[in-house]
Amino acid sequence: MPSAPEKTWTAQVVSAGRTYPTDTAPVVNPARTGEIVGTYALAGPRIVAEVVRNAQDAAVTWGSLTGAQRGRLLHTAADALERDLATRAELLTREQGKVLWESRLDLGGGPRLLRYYADIAPAVDEETVVRDERGTTVIRRLPMGPTVVIVPWNYPVYLCMMVLAPALAAGNPVIVKPSEFAPLALTETLAMLASALPDGVVNVVPGLGGEAGAALVSHPGVRKVLFTGGTESGRAVLRGAAQNITSVSLELGGNDPAIVLDSAVLDDRLIREIRRSVYTCTGQVCFNIKRLYVQRGVYDEFVDKFRQAVDEIVVGDGLDPASTTGPLNNKKQFDSVTALLDSTRKDGAQVDVLGRALDGTDWDNGYFMLPSVVTGIPHDSDLVSREQFGPTVPVVPFDDVEDAVRMANDTEFGLAASVWSEDPEHALTVGRRIAAGSVFVNSHRVGSSDMTMPFGGMKQSGLGRNHGMWAIDECSELQALSHRPDTSAFPGPATW
Ligand code: NAD
Repeated sequence: MPSAPEKTWTAQVVSAGRTYPTDTAPVVNPARTGEIVGTYALAGPRIVAEVVRNAQDAAVTWGSLTGAQRGRLLHTAADALERDLATRAELLTREQGKVLWESRLDLGGGPRLLRYYADIAPAVDEETVVRDERGTTVIRRLPMGPTVVIVPWNYPVYLCMMVLAPALAAGNPVIVKPSEFAPLALTETLAMLASALPDGVVNVVPGLGGEAGAALVSHPGVRKVLFTGGTESGRAVLRGAAQNITSVSLELGGNDPAIVLDSAVLDDRLIREIRRSVYTCTGQVCFNIKRLYVQRGVYDEFVDKFRQAVDEIVVGDGLDPASTTGPLNNKKQFDSVTALLDSTRKDGAQVDVLGRALDGTDWDNGYFMLPSVVTGIPHDSDLVSREQFGPTVPVVPFDDVEDAVRMANDTEFGLAASVWSEDPEHALTVGRRIAAGSVFVNSHRVGSSDMTMPFGGMKQSGLGRNHGMWAIDECSELQALSHRPDTSAFPGPATW
């Protein structure tokens, strides 16, 4: 069994090297709810105001560096983040619940993302010059200013760095509000990053969403909000930011469909890929597969093989290498998935509970749940139409591809989707008809989307796009600087 933690961690306010006393709240280990892993600061509007001022001061110098200069500083900061990765990965598993390899992946993404954006930072200064008979126009990017990054608990470090790194490369100081359910490893990482960069460039304000988060998004000194989280919270962020017409990008929830066509070969690789795409992080990933539509010709074979594969899952403490998946992250999430499965059973669907508990797991004192596969479920039931964010998936048969496309699109979400077939051309044709920001053929998981593809959601799954220069543009102002001495071609009478 994993040993007890050696120290208690604290996620404090990080800003300009000063200390900010606050009340604190506990962070509980979801695999052993009697264990307090650490505490986080409960920052409120007064601290938010001080931190925004620090970021405003830092914006002047950080924003006036060239992209190349910022890139060099970000490379050095990335080196600093390589230290103590193993300790922070263990901490992340203790507070988040997921298995250790996923925590390493989550944290390891930090330095990788910083280096990627450090390399492209010089391109931020590239200007487009338009010369014609009327004169010259220069189009250039400018930093927006203090930028708030609000983070969820499922992949806290990676999802933070995915938006923080381009914001820094574009010349903006950042203020991060970690999730109250996984603030420790992220704050530890950001404190290291803050020390490696000039004062006030990286700041952390832990606290509750409705207090610290709400105060940040409605502060007049904040010019950009990069929010990742649930759709309801996204709506509240938009309302808060509306007060000062603050620019907002949103990465929100998803209810990703996967369509398995008759032409798919249901070999071990495909079944394992889909299993992984559903149950990674105990089903708590925004673009995990949340609904499976399987064409009638392969439906029975698929359900049979998929159940067998899911039955291999071992649920236990994420620190134990014998666990395939850990517990759900928090009580609210556990209760929500439990209620959804109860109502699914009441509606007459078949819920096959599979897998096994790891020997020695303290099952009743953790948010553990065995994986399940649900069949005999209509397309309009809650488990199909809602984002379950847990270790279960409905498998719905279809006869005609038209029906599959209609059901896949019958949702307010539009984050990602996938089509599975041995005929990629046909799969791509089907994929073109799905309203989602990313559509994959024969894969659908962390890694399926990389920096060469814009990442983000359609409909209520978000606003804006991440990755590569799309992410830089998301947190830059575009300025047109024009000198056109000959105004005779402009509209309006020449005599005026
Ligand atoms: P959440 O919306 O409850 O919380 C996310 C963050 O927002 C937390 O830091 C929280 O404190 C803060 N917050 C909550 N209310 C706020 C408010 N009024 N003002 C400002 N901040 C506020 O989401 P969660 O439970 O942490 O994460 C799960 C959700 O996130 C799921 O819906 C999932 O799909 C989504 N998600 C989306 C992506 C993506 O890239 N699209 C990635 C990961 C998670």
